[in-house]
Amino acid sequence: MRELIDRLERDRLLTRDEFKAVLVCEDKYLHERAKAVRERVFGNKIYMRGLIEFTSYCKRNCYYCGLRTGNTDAQRYRLTKDEILSCCAEGYELGFRTFVLQGGEDPYYTDEILVDIVRAIKYDYADCAVTLSLGERDYKSLKRLRDAGADRYLLRQETSNEEHYAMLHPSDMMLSDRQKCLKNLKEIGYQVGCGFLIGSPGQTLDCIVDDLLFIKDLDPAMVGIGPFIPHSSTPFAGEKRGDLQLTLNTLAVLRLINPHLLIPATTALGSLEPTGREMGVLAGANVVMPNLSPEYAREKYMLYDNKICTDESAQLCRGCIGRRMNSIGCEIVVDRGDYSDV
Ligand code: SAM
Ligand code: SF4
Repeated sequence: MRELIDRLERDRLLTRDEFKAVLVCEDKYLHERAKAVRERVFGNKIYMRGLIEFTSYCKRNCYYCGLRTGNTDAQRYRLTKDEILSCCAEGYELGFRTFVLQGGEDPYYTDEILVDIVRAIKYDYADCAVTLSLGERDYKSLKRLRDAGADRYLLRQETSNEEHYAMLHPSDMMLSDRQKCLKNLKEIGYQVGCGFLIGSPGQTLDCIVDDLLFIKDLDPAMVGIGPFIPHSSTPFAGEKRGDLQLTLNTLAVLRLINPHLLIPATTALGSLEPTGREMGVLAGANVVMPNLSPEYAREKYMLYDNKICTDESAQLCRGCIGRRMNSIGCEIVVDRGDYSDV
């Protein structure tokens, strides 16, 4: 196994069967090498992104997600421009230099409304990056938002296997649309983040290898992976959670495939396991995304059951994640944390 892991680090590629063997390996060496590679590129520095969950309305019906339009139990809210700007103000004071606007696919937020919000953030915080995570939008819309100042865009492909994609989404959602959107984002000049769920119903190891190969081809700046966690009011209520070890191994493999990649230790990882985010960083992750949303909104942005950080202020969240990172010898930095492959 060690020979395989060394080869992955050197060549950044393995055969399909070799990838599968590494994904399920129990040798600590995999995480050790991923951590060593992260330290070589980033030292002990961890980048921080402030997550602003600005709408819980969504027109889509992804089977795994608590915000799906078919979930009539979901509590819906929308943040105003002023509320978003006050999240940024609080975040800036706390040392955040990236704001991530994430939400369901909510038609209320037209291009005009979003352009106005992005411009206002960039005007007030010129030294900060704005990341959008709004689901699929057409080329023209993505271009307008980029022209307004948005720097980055996160859109997980969720799976790169057509059959598996169809198990997770209704027939009006197509993997090819998702992939096209990711290519458009790159062409327009965003720093692009893609990603996928670990342990979503129907996923096999081959599906994960398909994702790794898609990522090698797309060459994104960021990859977000997190365990699938069921939500009680979705069609997947009775399904199993994603596996911790498989999530960490996948994360470590990604670090070895691209040493410069921005990889978050996700909230879902921390929700699966109390020290999941620390484990993620020790397996190669280098980004954390504490929540800046107003407290009243947090418990309504329920993607899955038992999501953490839903009853804390932004200040408490920032303090907590800082201590968690210090406990494993890492340090959160006040920095935009842009992608660079040099
Ligand atoms: N609507 C946008 C989109 O789908 O890209 C952005 C918001 S969406 C809630 C952000 C991410 O949450 C999705 O890409 C998905 O991977 C993740 N997510 C949704 N339901 C989840 C679940 N049950 N367990 C873990 N992650 C989940
Ligand atoms: Fe909507 Fe995104 Fe949830 Fe799908 S994953 S239902 S697009 S919020």
